[in-house]
Amino acid sequence: MSPHLSRRHLLAASALLPLGLQRPAMAAPASGPYRVGAFTVTPLRDGLFPLEPSMIPAAASPAGQTLLTGAGLPAKGPSPEPVNAFLIRRGGRHWLLDAGCGTVLGPGFDRVTAALAAEGVRPEQVETIWLSHLHADHAGGLLTPDRLARFANAELVLQEREVAYWSDAAARASAPAPLRPMFETAQAVLAAYSSRIRRVSGEAELAPGIHALPLPGHTPGHMGVLIADGSERLLIWGDIVHSRILQMPHPDWTVIWDTDPAEAITTRRRILDRAAVEGLRVTGMHLATRGRIERADTGYALV
Ligand SMILES: [Zn+2]
Repeated sequence: MSPHLSRRHLLAASALLPLGLQRPAMAAPASGPYRVGAFTVTPLRDGLFPLEPSMIPAAASPAGQTLLTGAGLPAKGPSPEPVNAFLIRRGGRHWLLDAGCGTVLGPGFDRVTAALAAEGVRPEQVETIWLSHLHADHAGGLLTPDRLARFANAELVLQEREVAYWSDAAARASAPAPLRPMFETAQAVLAAYSSRIRRVSGEAELAPGIHALPLPGHTPGHMGVLIADGSERLLIWGDIVHSRILQMPHPDWTVIWDTDPAEAITTRRRILDRAAVEGLRVTGMHLATRGRIERADTGYALV
């Protein structure tokens, strides 16, 4: 969510958190695990990020301030938001969806490996890592502090469009300022895993019962992962929302890191509506829980 921020900026932002929201919230375990048929899906909490209204510019409005104060937060934020990766297991196999921030965004993150260990899983046991997109709060944890591959045996799977965008020198040169520093981490990840990257396109089958769901706009190859077994389904939707408090009622409120804000809005509305119609259970990298989507008087609600 914050791939371009400096450590100083992050530290300053976390200093703004109400006292009660600092350490205890940072240490809060993720919810779950969730059963989806024979799959076990365990959110791995990498850390907690202080989202400031300047990162969702529309939130610096009376409507935004009302939502924040209604949630017990200061009117000017920040709103503490989780950063999650997900461990997905079935029949002795271990897959990861995203890997958290690692050490690239400073202190307060990099808990995915410890969360994996608490589940009895060593990094070398992970056979495949599906990456929702290449922003640092999802891909930074793929790297050791010296920028080598942290997962010795894992294949890295992501959308072809995502690899193309972050590998493109012209895209880097012409990117809006908040996006430009993200290229460094993205390219370090692609380099560290270069011999074991698999590119997929569209709604590819990632494993039996698990499909990619392209959700473009936040980044060109941003994707969710739809897990299905029998009648049970769970959509892990990546960064469709960075703030449940602000963006569920206002799906047209964009974050400053969207590559294509207009497409991000269209995608967010489309998937929220689909989830509401289909009664789909959803969770995400910046959601503290899972739930179903309902249409609300204003926008949508996670229930
Ligand atoms: Zn993110």
